[in-house]
Amino acid sequence: MRDVLIIGGGVAGGSAAIYTAYAKLSTLVLDTESSQLLQTQRIRNYPGIREITGEELKRTIQEQAISFGAEWKEEKATEINPIEGGYAVKTEQGGEYRAKALILATNLHLDLLEQLGFTIQVNPYVPSGKVKEVVGVSFDGKTSYENLFIAGLNAGVPSQSVIAAGQGVKVAVDLISKLTGKKFMWHDK
Ligand SMILES: Cc1cc2nc3c(=O)[nH]c(=O)nc-3n(C[C@H](O)[C@H](O)[C@H](O)COP(=O)(O)OP(=O)(O)OC[C@H]3O[C@@H](n4cnc5c(N)ncnc54)[C@H](O)[C@@H]3O)c2cc1C
Repeated sequence: MRDVLIIGGGVAGGSAAIYTAYAKLSTLVLDTESSQLLQTQRIRNYPGIREITGEELKRTIQEQAISFGAEWKEEKATEINPIEGGYAVKTEQGGEYRAKALILATNLHLDLLEQLGFTIQVNPYVPSGKVKEVVGVSFDGKTSYENLFIAGLNAGVPSQSVIAAGQGVKVAVDLISKLTGKKFMWHDK
């Protein structure tokens, strides 16, 4: 059984994976390559980066996560079942994976959230009404399921990449601290 399975490798899920992998938690990301970043020609409001295409930002986050030890598979998660000590996830491609903790960062794709019985409503920060959030979930991404977190826009944050990244990292830091039993902080010298 892996430590962490992240469904959705966009900004939030990919950012979470950088941290959980760095913390030496075995981390698998499943992603279907439909991040909103891939529709974004240029991003000029990600602090510290003057300008970047959405695709380049996504690829860089993915490369960082893999460089710290995350596994990354282009597979679509279709089913989640709670099991003893964690969760079992099946994919459309026939994969079956188990992990102690799950991070759901699927943004526009709500089927797994609905399957788990979450109540979904419009994310009030996004005027189009296209983006949804999980009722009762806030910035820490905690849900009523043990060790199952929501990351990214479904946690009811504004649709800005830097906020999705920061929220994904907050979820990861809390999860690392919980699974290892030690407060986690990453400061390079
Ligand atoms: C046209 C456009 C322009 C934008 N411009 C900007 C901008 O200038 N600046 C800015 O900060 N933000 C911008 N954004 C917003 C930004 O793209 C989002 O805020 C950000 O992508 C949200 O991150 P996320 O991780 O929540 O979701 P996403 O990045 O959308 O990631 C969700 C991921 O989940 C995966 N997924 C979903 N379901 C499954 C499943 N069942 N199994 C496996 N994987 C799954 C998808 O493939 C996807 O990769 C723009 C968005 C659009 C559409």
